[in-house]
Amino acid sequence: MGAAAQDNSPSGQLEPDSTWAEEVRALARERDAVLLAHNYQLPEIQDVADHVGDSLALSRIAATSGAATIVFCGVHFMAETAKILAPEKTVLIPDARAGCSLADSITVDQLRAWKREHPGAAVVSYVNTTAAVKAETDICCTSSNAVDVVASIPPDRAVLFCPDQFLGAHVKRETGRANLHVWAGECHVHAGINGPELAARAAAHPTADLYIHPECGCATSALYLVGEGVVPREKVHILSTSGMVEAARTTGTGTVLVATEVGMLHQLRKAAPATEFRAVNDRASCRFMKMITPAALLRALREGTDEVKVDHDIAVRARASVQRMIEIGAPGGGE
Ligand code: SF4
Repeated sequence: MGAAAQDNSPSGQLEPDSTWAEEVRALARERDAVLLAHNYQLPEIQDVADHVGDSLALSRIAATSGAATIVFCGVHFMAETAKILAPEKTVLIPDARAGCSLADSITVDQLRAWKREHPGAAVVSYVNTTAAVKAETDICCTSSNAVDVVASIPPDRAVLFCPDQFLGAHVKRETGRANLHVWAGECHVHAGINGPELAARAAAHPTADLYIHPECGCATSALYLVGEGVVPREKVHILSTSGMVEAARTTGTGTVLVATEVGMLHQLRKAAPATEFRAVNDRASCRFMKMITPAALLRALREGTDEVKVDHDIAVRARASVQRMIEIGAPGGGE
Protein backbone atom coordinates (compact mmCIF):
# COMPACT_ATOMS: atom_id res chain seq x y z
CA MET A 1 0.00 0.00 0.00
CA GLY A 2 1.31 3.48 -0.87
CA ALA A 3 1.96 6.13 1.74
CA ALA A 4 -0.94 8.31 0.59
CA ALA A 5 -3.55 5.70 1.62
CA GLN A 6 -2.21 5.16 5.13
CA ASP A 7 -2.72 6.78 8.53
CA ASN A 8 -0.38 9.77 8.57
CA SER A 9 -1.37 11.30 11.88
CA PRO A 10 1.82 11.91 13.93
CA SER A 11 1.36 8.73 15.92
CA GLY A 12 -0.13 6.75 13.03
CA GLN A 13 1.33 3.62 11.50
CA LEU A 14 2.72 3.87 8.03
CA GLU A 15 4.96 1.50 6.10
CA PRO A 16 8.12 3.44 5.20
CA ASP A 17 8.31 1.90 1.72
CA SER A 18 9.75 3.37 -1.49
CA THR A 19 6.44 5.19 -2.23
CA TRP A 20 6.71 6.92 1.14
CA ALA A 21 10.37 7.84 0.54
CA GLU A 22 9.57 9.23 -2.93
CA GLU A 23 6.71 11.32 -1.56
CA VAL A 24 8.90 12.65 1.25
CA ARG A 25 11.62 13.63 -1.21
CA ALA A 26 9.15 15.22 -3.64
CA LEU A 27 7.44 17.27 -0.90
CA ALA A 28 10.83 18.39 0.43
CA ARG A 29 11.73 19.67 -3.05
CA GLU A 30 8.38 21.49 -3.35
CA ARG A 31 8.90 23.19 0.01
CA ASP A 32 12.57 23.96 -0.65
CA ALA A 33 13.27 22.02 2.54
CA VAL A 34 16.40 20.31 3.80
CA LEU A 35 15.80 17.17 5.90
CA LEU A 36 18.07 16.77 8.92
CA ALA A 37 18.08 13.60 11.05
CA HIS A 38 19.79 13.01 14.36
CA ASN A 39 21.88 9.85 14.86
CA TYR A 40 19.23 8.44 17.24
CA GLN A 41 16.39 8.60 14.71
CA LEU A 42 14.69 5.51 13.26
CA PRO A 43 16.82 3.96 10.47
CA GLU A 44 14.24 4.80 7.76
CA ILE A 45 14.21 8.47 8.83
CA GLN A 46 18.02 8.54 8.74
CA ASP A 47 18.03 6.96 5.28
CA VAL A 48 15.58 9.45 3.73
CA ALA A 49 17.31 12.54 5.22
CA ASP A 50 19.73 14.87 3.42
CA HIS A 51 22.08 14.91 6.42
CA VAL A 52 22.52 12.70 9.50
CA GLY A 53 24.60 13.75 12.47
CA ASP A 54 24.77 15.14 15.98
CA SER A 55 22.76 18.08 17.24
CA LEU A 56 25.35 20.79 16.72
CA ALA A 57 26.54 19.62 13.31
CA LEU A 58 22.93 19.57 12.14
CA SER A 59 22.30 23.06 13.51
CA ARG A 60 25.32 24.37 11.65
CA ILE A 61 24.03 22.81 8.44
CA ALA A 62 20.67 24.47 9.16
CA ALA A 63 22.40 27.84 9.52
CA THR A 64 24.42 27.59 6.31
CA SER A 65 21.94 25.74 4.09
CA GLY A 66 20.38 27.66 1.22
CA ALA A 67 17.01 25.95 1.82
CA ALA A 68 14.08 28.08 3.00
CA THR A 69 12.76 25.40 5.37
CA ILE A 70 14.56 23.14 7.81
CA VAL A 71 12.80 19.91 8.78
CA PHE A 72 14.52 18.78 11.97
CA CYS A 73 14.04 15.10 12.74
CA GLY A 74 15.21 15.07 16.34
CA VAL A 75 13.95 16.43 19.65
CA HIS A 76 12.58 19.89 20.39
CA PHE A 77 15.68 21.59 21.89
CA MET A 78 17.64 20.61 18.76
CA ALA A 79 15.08 22.23 16.47
CA GLU A 80 15.12 25.29 18.74
CA THR A 81 18.91 25.51 18.41
CA ALA A 82 18.55 25.38 14.62
CA LYS A 83 16.00 28.22 14.84
CA ILE A 84 18.34 30.23 17.10
CA LEU A 85 21.14 29.89 14.54
CA ALA A 86 18.89 30.39 11.49
CA PRO A 87 16.15 32.80 12.65
CA GLU A 88 15.11 33.79 9.14
CA LYS A 89 14.28 30.21 8.14
CA THR A 90 11.14 28.19 8.78
CA VAL A 91 12.03 25.34 11.14
CA LEU A 92 9.67 22.37 11.37
CA ILE A 93 9.78 19.42 13.75
CA PRO A 94 7.53 16.51 12.72
CA ASP A 95 6.17 16.17 16.27
CA ALA A 96 6.58 19.05 18.74
CA ARG A 97 5.89 16.68 21.63
CA ALA A 98 9.36 15.14 21.15
CA GLY A 99 11.00 16.49 24.31
CA CYS A 100 14.12 15.45 26.23
CA SER A 101 14.37 14.29 29.84
CA LEU A 102 17.84 15.83 30.15
CA ALA A 103 16.77 19.25 28.85
CA ASP A 104 13.76 19.05 31.19
CA SER A 105 15.98 18.40 34.22
CA ILE A 106 16.67 22.12 34.65
CA THR A 107 14.15 24.93 34.12
CA VAL A 108 15.05 28.58 33.61
CA ASP A 109 13.66 29.42 37.07
CA GLN A 110 15.81 26.73 38.69
CA LEU A 111 18.89 28.05 36.86
CA ARG A 112 18.17 31.64 37.96
CA ALA A 113 17.84 30.47 41.59
CA TRP A 114 21.13 28.52 41.33
CA LYS A 115 22.85 31.62 39.93
CA ARG A 116 21.59 33.67 42.90
CA GLU A 117 23.21 31.11 45.24
CA HIS A 118 26.56 31.56 43.43
CA PRO A 119 26.87 35.21 42.44
CA GLY A 120 29.62 35.85 39.90
CA ALA A 121 29.86 32.20 38.81
CA ALA A 122 30.05 31.41 35.09
CA VAL A 123 27.27 29.20 33.72
CA VAL A 124 28.23 26.43 31.30
CA SER A 125 25.30 24.50 29.81
CA TYR A 126 25.35 21.42 27.66
CA VAL A 127 23.48 21.86 24.37
CA ASN A 128 20.66 19.64 25.67
CA THR A 129 18.86 22.63 27.21
CA THR A 130 15.90 24.79 26.26
CA ALA A 131 16.40 28.13 24.50
CA ALA A 132 15.36 29.91 27.73
CA VAL A 133 18.13 28.13 29.70
CA LYS A 134 20.66 28.90 26.95
CA ALA A 135 19.67 32.57 27.24
CA GLU A 136 20.72 32.48 30.94
CA THR A 137 23.99 30.72 30.07
CA ASP A 138 27.47 32.24 29.57
CA ILE A 139 28.84 29.48 27.33
CA CYS A 140 27.15 26.40 25.92
CA CYS A 141 29.22 23.27 25.33
CA THR A 142 29.07 19.94 23.57
CA SER A 143 30.46 16.69 24.95
CA SER A 144 33.47 17.20 22.63
CA ASN A 145 34.48 20.61 23.95
CA ALA A 146 33.03 20.66 27.50
CA VAL A 147 36.52 20.31 29.03
CA ASP A 148 37.96 23.10 26.83
CA VAL A 149 35.02 25.40 27.57
CA VAL A 150 35.44 25.00 31.34
CA ALA A 151 39.24 25.38 31.03
CA SER A 152 38.70 28.69 29.18
CA ILE A 153 37.17 30.22 32.34
CA PRO A 154 39.67 31.82 34.78
CA PRO A 155 40.59 29.21 37.45
CA ASP A 156 39.49 31.42 40.34
CA ARG A 157 35.97 31.90 38.96
CA ALA A 158 33.35 29.37 40.08
CA VAL A 159 31.54 27.44 37.35
CA LEU A 160 27.96 26.17 37.37
CA PHE A 161 27.73 23.18 35.01
CA CYS A 162 24.32 21.93 33.91
CA PRO A 163 22.29 19.90 33.33
CA ASP A 164 24.08 16.55 32.97
CA GLN A 165 25.73 15.11 36.07
CA PHE A 166 27.67 12.41 34.21
CA LEU A 167 29.18 14.83 31.71
CA GLY A 168 29.82 17.20 34.64
CA ALA A 169 31.66 14.43 36.52
CA HIS A 170 33.73 13.76 33.39
CA VAL A 171 34.66 17.46 33.13
CA LYS A 172 35.49 17.68 36.84
CA ARG A 173 37.75 14.63 36.56
CA GLU A 174 39.52 16.01 33.48
CA THR A 175 39.99 19.57 34.78
CA GLY A 176 40.53 18.69 38.48
CA ARG A 177 38.58 21.85 39.25
CA ALA A 178 37.24 22.13 42.82
CA ASN A 179 35.06 25.20 42.11
CA LEU A 180 32.98 23.37 39.47
CA HIS A 181 29.42 22.84 40.71
CA VAL A 182 27.44 20.19 38.84
CA TRP A 183 23.64 20.12 38.48
CA ALA A 184 22.16 16.69 39.28
CA GLY A 185 20.32 16.23 35.99
CA GLU A 186 20.39 13.18 33.77
CA CYS A 187 18.98 11.59 30.66
CA HIS A 188 16.84 8.60 31.58
CA VAL A 189 18.15 6.65 28.58
CA HIS A 190 21.86 7.22 29.23
CA ALA A 191 21.51 6.87 33.01
CA GLY A 192 20.07 3.40 32.33
CA ILE A 193 23.34 2.28 30.72
CA ASN A 194 25.09 1.42 33.94
CA GLY A 195 28.39 0.11 35.23
CA PRO A 196 27.43 -3.50 36.04
CA GLU A 197 26.02 -3.95 32.53
CA LEU A 198 29.17 -2.53 30.99
CA ALA A 199 31.39 -4.74 33.15
CA ALA A 200 29.38 -7.85 32.17
CA ARG A 201 29.53 -6.99 28.46
CA ALA A 202 33.25 -6.19 28.63
CA ALA A 203 33.91 -9.54 30.34
CA ALA A 204 31.91 -11.39 27.66
CA HIS A 205 33.81 -9.63 24.84
CA PRO A 206 37.36 -9.23 26.19
CA THR A 207 38.85 -8.13 22.84
CA ALA A 208 36.15 -5.57 22.04
CA ASP A 209 36.67 -1.80 21.91
CA LEU A 210 34.25 0.30 24.00
CA TYR A 211 32.62 3.44 22.58
CA ILE A 212 31.07 5.37 25.46
CA HIS A 213 29.07 8.58 25.37
CA PRO A 214 30.10 10.78 28.33
CA GLU A 215 26.45 11.24 29.34
CA CYS A 216 26.30 7.55 30.23
CA GLY A 217 26.11 6.35 33.78
CA CYS A 218 28.81 3.89 32.80
CA ALA A 219 31.44 6.48 31.75
CA THR A 220 32.85 6.52 35.29
CA SER A 221 32.69 2.73 35.44
CA ALA A 222 34.66 2.45 32.23
CA LEU A 223 37.49 4.49 33.72
CA TYR A 224 37.26 2.41 36.90
CA LEU A 225 37.55 -0.80 34.84
CA VAL A 226 40.62 0.67 33.17
CA GLY A 227 42.10 1.53 36.58
CA GLU A 228 41.47 -2.03 37.78
CA GLY A 229 43.12 -3.48 34.68
CA VAL A 230 39.86 -5.19 33.59
CA VAL A 231 39.83 -3.27 30.29
CA PRO A 232 43.01 -1.94 28.62
CA ARG A 233 43.03 1.88 28.49
CA GLU A 234 43.44 1.95 24.71
CA LYS A 235 40.18 -0.01 24.33
CA VAL A 236 38.03 2.66 26.01
CA HIS A 237 36.93 5.60 23.86
CA ILE A 238 34.79 8.34 25.42
CA LEU A 239 33.18 9.87 22.33
CA SER A 240 30.37 12.13 21.17
CA THR A 241 28.02 10.59 18.62
CA SER A 242 29.89 12.18 15.70
CA GLY A 243 33.18 11.05 17.27
CA MET A 244 31.84 7.48 17.26
CA VAL A 245 31.13 7.58 13.51
CA GLU A 246 34.62 8.98 12.83
CA ALA A 247 36.24 6.30 15.01
CA ALA A 248 34.18 3.57 13.32
CA ARG A 249 35.56 4.55 9.90
CA THR A 250 39.10 3.69 10.98
CA THR A 251 38.47 0.86 13.41
CA GLY A 252 40.25 -2.37 12.70
CA THR A 253 38.49 -4.14 15.55
CA GLY A 254 36.15 -7.11 15.13
CA THR A 255 33.69 -6.11 17.87
CA VAL A 256 32.78 -2.75 19.37
CA LEU A 257 30.52 -2.34 22.41
CA VAL A 258 28.50 0.86 22.15
CA ALA A 259 27.18 2.71 25.19
CA THR A 260 24.63 5.21 23.97
CA GLU A 261 21.13 5.29 22.48
CA VAL A 262 20.59 2.28 20.17
CA GLY A 263 19.71 4.37 17.09
CA MET A 264 23.43 5.10 16.88
CA LEU A 265 24.12 1.54 15.72
CA HIS A 266 22.61 2.24 12.27
CA GLN A 267 25.21 4.88 11.31
CA LEU A 268 28.07 2.88 12.86
CA ARG A 269 27.14 -0.24 10.87
CA LYS A 270 26.97 1.82 7.69
CA ALA A 271 30.38 3.39 8.44
CA ALA A 272 32.09 0.03 9.14
CA PRO A 273 30.07 -2.90 7.73
CA ALA A 274 32.75 -5.48 8.63
CA THR A 275 32.74 -4.56 12.32
CA GLU A 276 30.23 -6.02 14.76
CA PHE A 277 28.66 -3.22 16.80
CA ARG A 278 26.76 -4.33 19.90
CA ALA A 279 24.74 -2.19 22.30
CA VAL A 280 25.82 -2.29 25.94
CA ASN A 281 22.10 -1.96 26.75
CA ASP A 282 19.67 -3.09 24.00
CA ARG A 283 16.81 -1.32 25.80
CA ALA A 284 18.48 2.12 25.62
CA SER A 285 15.98 3.59 23.18
CA CYS A 286 14.78 7.20 23.49
CA ARG A 287 11.00 7.33 23.16
CA PHE A 288 11.18 11.05 22.35
CA MET A 289 13.48 10.47 19.38
CA LYS A 290 11.21 7.68 18.17
CA MET A 291 8.18 10.03 18.13
CA ILE A 292 9.48 11.21 14.76
CA THR A 293 7.71 8.47 12.80
CA PRO A 294 7.47 8.09 9.02
CA ALA A 295 3.83 9.28 9.33
CA ALA A 296 4.84 12.35 11.32
CA LEU A 297 7.51 13.30 8.78
CA LEU A 298 5.04 13.01 5.92
CA ARG A 299 2.49 15.13 7.79
CA ALA A 300 5.13 17.80 8.53
CA LEU A 301 5.95 18.10 4.83
CA ARG A 302 2.33 18.06 3.68
CA GLU A 303 0.97 20.48 6.27
CA GLY A 304 3.98 22.57 7.30
CA THR A 305 3.75 21.50 10.96
CA ASP A 306 4.89 21.68 13.73
CA GLU A 307 6.62 25.03 13.34
CA VAL A 308 9.28 25.90 15.95
CA LYS A 309 9.35 29.51 17.17
CA VAL A 310 11.70 31.17 19.66
CA ASP A 311 11.03 34.56 21.27
CA HIS A 312 13.32 37.19 19.68
CA ASP A 313 14.98 38.38 22.92
CA ILE A 314 15.60 34.81 24.13
CA ALA A 315 16.99 33.88 20.71
CA VAL A 316 19.46 36.80 20.71
CA ARG A 317 20.83 35.91 24.17
CA ALA A 318 20.82 32.17 23.49
CA ARG A 319 22.67 32.71 20.21
CA ALA A 320 25.46 34.52 22.07
CA SER A 321 26.07 31.53 24.38
CA VAL A 322 26.01 29.12 21.42
CA GLN A 323 28.43 31.33 19.44
CA ARG A 324 30.91 31.33 22.36
CA MET A 325 30.74 27.54 22.36
CA ILE A 326 31.55 27.42 18.65
CA GLU A 327 34.63 29.60 19.20
CA ILE A 328 36.20 27.28 21.83
CA GLY A 329 38.05 24.04 21.26
CA ALA A 330 36.59 21.39 18.99
CA PRO A 331 32.85 21.99 19.25
CA GLY A 332 31.88 19.17 16.87
CA GLY A 333 29.72 16.70 18.68
CA GLY A 334 27.18 17.12 21.39
CA GLU A 335 24.71 14.35 21.63
S1 SF4 B 1 18.48 10.15 24.56
FE1 SF4 B 1 18.24 11.31 26.48
S2 SF4 B 1 19.39 13.21 26.14
FE2 SF4 B 1 18.96 12.29 24.12
S3 SF4 B 1 17.04 13.21 23.43
FE3 SF4 B 1 16.52 11.28 24.49
S4 SF4 B 1 16.08 11.93 26.59
FE4 SF4 B 1 17.22 13.60 25.64
